[in-house]
Amino acid sequence: MVERGRGQTQTPAAGEAATAVTAVGKAKPRQGMMRQYDLVERVRSYNPDTDEDMLNRAYVYAMKAHGSQTRASGDPYFSHPLEVAAILTDLKLDDATIAAALLHDTIEDTEATRAEIDQIFGSEIGALVEGLTKLMRLELVSREAKQAENLRKLLLAVADDVRVLLIKLADRLHNMRTLDFMRQESRRRIAEETLDIYAPLAGRMGMQEMREELEELAFRTLDPDAHGVVTQRLTTLADRNINLISEIEAQLSSNLRNNGLSARVFGRRKKPFSIWTKMERKSIGFEQLSDIFGFRVVVGDVADCYRALGIVHTTWPVVPGRFKDYISTPKQNDYRSIHTTVIGPGKQRVELQIRTAAMDQIAERGIAAHVFYKEGVGSPTEFLKRESNAFAWLSHTIGVLSQSANPEEFLEHTKLELFHDQVFCFTPKGKLIALPRHANVIDFAYAVHTDVGSSAVGCKINGKFAPLSSELQNGDEVEVLTSNAQSAPPSAWEALAITGKARAAIRRATRSAVRDQYVGLGRRIVERLFGRAKIDYADDKLRGALARLARSSIEDVMAAVGHGEIKASDVARAMYPDYREERVTRRGGRKDGPRNPSAIPIHGINSGLPVKFAPNGGAVPGDRIVGIVSAGEGITIYPIHSPELKDFEEEPERWLDVRWDVDETNSQRFPARIRIENVNEPGALAQIATVIAEHDGNIDNVSMQRRSPDFTETTIDLGVYDLKHLSAIIAQLRVKSVVARVERVNG
Ligand code: MN
Repeated sequence: MVERGRGQTQTPAAGEAATAVTAVGKAKPRQGMMRQYDLVERVRSYNPDTDEDMLNRAYVYAMKAHGSQTRASGDPYFSHPLEVAAILTDLKLDDATIAAALLHDTIEDTEATRAEIDQIFGSEIGALVEGLTKLMRLELVSREAKQAENLRKLLLAVADDVRVLLIKLADRLHNMRTLDFMRQESRRRIAEETLDIYAPLAGRMGMQEMREELEELAFRTLDPDAHGVVTQRLTTLADRNINLISEIEAQLSSNLRNNGLSARVFGRRKKPFSIWTKMERKSIGFEQLSDIFGFRVVVGDVADCYRALGIVHTTWPVVPGRFKDYISTPKQNDYRSIHTTVIGPGKQRVELQIRTAAMDQIAERGIAAHVFYKEGVGSPTEFLKRESNAFAWLSHTIGVLSQSANPEEFLEHTKLELFHDQVFCFTPKGKLIALPRHANVIDFAYAVHTDVGSSAVGCKINGKFAPLSSELQNGDEVEVLTSNAQSAPPSAWEALAITGKARAAIRRATRSAVRDQYVGLGRRIVERLFGRAKIDYADDKLRGALARLARSSIEDVMAAVGHGEIKASDVARAMYPDYREERVTRRGGRKDGPRNPSAIPIHGINSGLPVKFAPNGGAVPGDRIVGIVSAGEGITIYPIHSPELKDFEEEPERWLDVRWDVDETNSQRFPARIRIENVNEPGALAQIATVIAEHDGNIDNVSMQRRSPDFTETTIDLGVYDLKHLSAIIAQLRVKSVVARVERVNG
């Protein structure tokens, strides 16, 4: 994004999209550029008292000021402010807003000055144009910086006059409609910004039509595939249900009419973007009519709304839990309507919105429905202050803004309300990360970068250590602690993450990490055998033997050995046909020899290694251990004195040197089993459990067996950090008078 000085009058604004006369979406198709009289006509249609002379002067002034400037499409630049003004006539806005829309890019992009505009059009319009100019400059400056700052200032600029924001939204809408002329990268950025900032803002201002079109255009740009699929399916379903839709409309109308109520009833197709977000959020498809169509009943007054509701509810069964009365309790953005869902004709769920024509206007146009200046009501802003909840919300926001100095505080008060379905957090450097509500640190880490996510081992939230699964709150500053030692995220994270991005990355990483682990494991097993048999191993030699092993790559062979699908001795025989397996037995593993540097490090069970622990008793850091490879199950870790190791004495190739690699700060638990002989008395088990809990042990399982009338044998499976921890718990148990004996069980 280039900053432009006022000297470069011939280049159109870099941040502006090109004008296309072929409008998309809801835009009304127009042939060629709108003419001066077209615009004035549009205004006069809703405002007979319009100051035509002033509008004409603004039109001519802007056209001359932009002169021969063109947009990326090759259209005259002036077509852009003209279309923006036209969008605002759809919202039936006052003369000053329309004139300011025509002039909105003149101060920034031409020789025009605030003083000159003031002089010709008065300071009301001058202030609006200057507000837009400020907003645009702030946008450019802050685009690379914090988004929070960007939005904050954007809103602050509105403090002067809410109409600045309405023009800004129309400006953005036109740029979105003509986005196809922009370069690919700018398209994405503009669409993302629209989805992050402008569409929700339009929504909070109650302007549903504006919000929907912005979302639709952004969605199409950001995810054309998803957009295409949803749109096509929507069309198919709508076509299939076309008879049903008109039947529902007809039945609703006649029912209301027969009860003496005149109402306008119409079905309304839901928007691809809202369907898509629902599908993403709830991971569901759309099948039912109510998933794609809503029906609206527009009646004369509030009393009729409730009469219509009564008629609907006595005609069709009501779906429980779906009734909402936003007439008695309007939404913060001024939205009023009754919502209900019934089982209608064809046993279909039918969603209904019941409202008056005035409520319908406000629902579609929101704050803009209030702005139109009326004789004797004072300035539009004054009028809004008295009349509109949406404005009350905005001025509340602005009030908070002008008092709070930092973005975090701003977020706490404002974004919370503005984007109630999202949380906004910061990196330590102040970069804003937006996440869906209920997201946790894992989602945050992946939102920062896939590598950050995959190597995350801990975090600090607002300076304090916290679990990675902590749900994030608005304004949290999150520092992700990473470790190069973690090559892949624990697979259990996939269930913890809530964003699609994090889940997909975790799935990808764990899948390939698990394979890597098996490959590495297989290679160690093969190298071990070759070393013991004193024969040479070489990749080239194995490559020549791939066919004999029915594998297509060395990695495949190693992974198969790691999985236990083929034996290392099979590999040796494939490479050296006269290889004879040496019959050695193994007992007790390496005794007290030096620490073997080639031993495979064991971090725990959640590290993506194919590791599990001995079924009877487990093993904890501090125990001397050995690994046994089993087909399809990876390594099982046994304490070196486990009697179960006897079963593997005949298969030395399955034995593996392993060592613990767990440090004191690791909070992972390992399985251990203890057997307690305790006195039979009420509360004995409770005492035992209390000791274990007080010493931070985790009881996974308890089984009891009565040995005699006086004594019970209790076997407890525990999760402990290491041998020291386990020994401490055992010592504490021995102190208890109800405990006669405690011993650790290993197999
Ligand atoms: Mn513009």
